Order: sequence, then C-alpha cells, then structure tokens
Amino acid sequence: MFEPVLDKLKEARKIVFVTGAGMSQESGIPTFRGKNGLWRNYDPMKIATIDAFYENPKLVWEWYEDRRRNIVAAQPNPGHNAIAKLERYKEVVVLTQNIDGLHQRAGSTKVLELHGSIIRIKCTVCSFQDYVVSSFDVLPPICKCGKILRPDVVWFGEPLPQDVWTEAIAYANSCDVMIIAGTSLLVSPANTLPLYAKQNNALLIEINPEDTMMSVDMNLTIRETCSNIIPKLTEIFSKLN
Ligand code: NAD
Repeated sequence: MFEPVLDKLKEARKIVFVTGAGMSQESGIPTFRGKNGLWRNYDPMKIATIDAFYENPKLVWEWYEDRRRNIVAAQPNPGHNAIAKLERYKEVVVLTQNIDGLHQRAGSTKVLELHGSIIRIKCTVCSFQDYVVSSFDVLPPICKCGKILRPDVVWFGEPLPQDVWTEAIAYANSCDVMIIAGTSLLVSPANTLPLYAKQNNALLIEINPEDTMMSVDMNLTIRETCSNIIPKLTEIFSKLN
C-alpha cells in the first residue's frame, strides 16, 4: 500500500497530519459530511454560526451538549493511537479540525486545534475561558460578568485563532510528509494546508474512503479508513528503527 512512496517515507524527518471528522468516525463520533454525516439531519447555518447562536442560544447549546456528552464517552481509536505512537520514530505534528480532544487523549503531544475545543467554554463578551467539567444546570450558561457563555469552537464565518493558524502554516510549509486523514477538505482555510506542503515539495498522502476535491493533487490516495491504515504506517516506521 505504501510501497510507491516508501523511499520518501524513510527519508522523512517531519510528518504533519491534517485531520478531520473522519478521523474520529471510528470512535463513534459522526462526521459532518460523507456517508451518515450529521449535516444530513441538521442545517449547519441553523446551528454552527454566531447568528444562529444569538437567535436561539438554548437550541445551539443543547446540540453542543449532546455532542459533548458523546465525545466525552468516546475513546481514541487505533488511528489516533498510531499517530501518537509514531512520535517514537519521527517528529510528528497534528493539525486538527476536530474539536473532540481525542488526539491528545491518545497521547499525541503536538496538536494544534484549528477549530477550538468542545470541552472548553468562553464568554461572548469578556475574556473568561474555562474547561467544561460537568453538564450545566441551565442553558445557556451565564458568565460571572452576566453575559452568555458559548462553546470555545470556531463557527462558520468566524476566523481561526490567529496564533494557532500562523503556527499551522509554518508546520505545513516545512514538513516532508503531509498525511491528510478523514477530512472532506471543504472547510476553508484548513483546506489550504496541503497547498503549503506542496509548495515545500512535501509528499502528500490522503486517507479517506471517499474522493475529495484535492484527491488529484495527492501523491498517494488510500481509499480506506484511518483506523485500518494509520497503524500500518506506524508499523513501517517501527521496523525501520
Ligand atoms: P467532514 O464531515 O466534512 O468530512 C469527513 C470526511 O471524512 C469525509 O470526506 C468522509 O469521507 C471521511 N471519512 C468518514 N469516515 C472516515 C474514516 N473512518 N476514515 C477516514 N475518513 C473518513 O469533516 P471535516 O473535513 O473535518 O470538516 C467539517 C468540520 O467538522 C470541521 O470544522 C470540524 O471542526 C467539524 N467536526 C468535528 C468533529 C469532531 O471533532 N470529531 C465531528 C464532526 C464535525
């Protein structure tokens, strides 16, 4: 499976993963798009925008609380675990669009959360930020300053945290291999990361059971799931060492 790019993989020093919702699908967390994606049942513009939030904060909070409970109960899958284990052999950075924290729970030490985290909250007005440790008695929860708290996630139309994004571009610009796993590459600007890697002549590998808009730009596309394939990649590196 990796034979066509084995030499480049052996030489690689810095490996960057760009991951999306498909990475956690085998942990039981639904994706947004693709087969069985969440957006088949919900209209994103009614849930994941600041306008939707101000229009009906209780509804948006209920949706996020359901997702958060599902995420907290989920476990990292063999794909997450294999990425964490790869750090024994290579410099590994994970640039994730996921908000579920599963890469960190698997043991990955360098994870940049491009779209925030569902297990954090922040105030809509003041600078208050915290982790969510239990369910809220009343939704929407209220900050000490009296304003509404919101999930610390990036909604459609909102900018990414600038420091995180700048660092992500620097990693994409300087990697030898980029592995794009479980993302439809439809959400901007995260979907531009492979272009930065390509400029650096990095090897691009896509792991996704379905085609994406950028599949044609990849050096290798593997039409398989993350938990089936990423452990095989880590095994290759373990044998080289
Ligand atoms: P997406 O839902 O748009 O696309 C998911 C992709 O994963 C699809 O291309 C699908 O074919 C692929 N896929 C499904 N199962 C897979 C598997 N087992 N292995 C490999 N690939 C698989 O997701 P996206 O590209 O991440 O973008 C949508 C937004 O969704 C992001 O902003 C992200 O924050 C948010 N999101 C996050 C989570 C999470 O944190 N787990 C879950 C849902 C959505």
